[in-house]
Amino acid sequence: MPKPKVLISEDSIKQRIATLSQEITKAASEDIVIVVLLKGAFIFTADLLRSLSDSGLQPEVEFMTLSSYGSGTKSSGHVRVHGDIPLELDGKTVLIVDDILETGNTLVKARQLLSQSGASDVKICVLLQKRITATPEIQADFVGFEIDDHFVVGYGLDYDNRYRELPYIGLL
Ligand code: 5GP
Ligand code: MG
Repeated sequence: MPKPKVLISEDSIKQRIATLSQEITKAASEDIVIVVLLKGAFIFTADLLRSLSDSGLQPEVEFMTLSSYGSGTKSSGHVRVHGDIPLELDGKTVLIVDDILETGNTLVKARQLLSQSGASDVKICVLLQKRITATPEIQADFVGFEIDDHFVVGYGLDYDNRYRELPYIGLL
C-alpha cells in the first residue's frame, strides 16, 4: 500500500486539540455527554477527551455508528445507522464528535436521532471540515481544521477500512 502524503502533521493535530478543548470547555456545561461517531472519530475523540480532562471537563461518553461512504471515496448521500443509539439523554447537553464534515448528511442524521432521544441541546465538533462548493446542511460549533476538497485518510479516517492507524492526516 502506498504511504499517504502528510496533509496535517501529528504535531499540528496535537496543538490544535489543545486549543480546541479549551474552546469547548469555555462553552460547555459541566454535565455534557460526548457522542462519538464511529468509526472515523474514535482516535480524534480519544485524544480530545484526555485534553478536555486536562482543562477540567469530565464528560459522559456514548457511541453511535453511522456510515455514508461504503467502501469508496464519494459520499453515497444515504446515511446508515448500525447498532444501538444512545437512549437516556433526557434534558442533557450533547456534543457530537465526528471526523469530518462534508455534505452534512451524517451530522443531520446524528442530530435528529439524538434529539429524539431527548437531548435538550446538541452541539457539534469535527476534526476536519471540507471546503466544498455546496453549502453543508449543518454547521459545526467547533472545527479543528478546514481543508480543501480532497479525500483524506489517517488519524481514524479510512479508505476501505485501512489507514486508520496513521498518526497524521494524509492524502492518498
Ligand atoms: P457527510 O455526511 O458530511 O457528507 O460526510 C461525512 C462522513 O463521510 C464522515 O463522517 C466520514 O466518515 C466520511 N468522509 C467524508 N469525507 C471523507 C474523506 O475525505 N475521507 C474519509 N476517509 N472519509 C470521509
Ligand atoms: Mg464518519
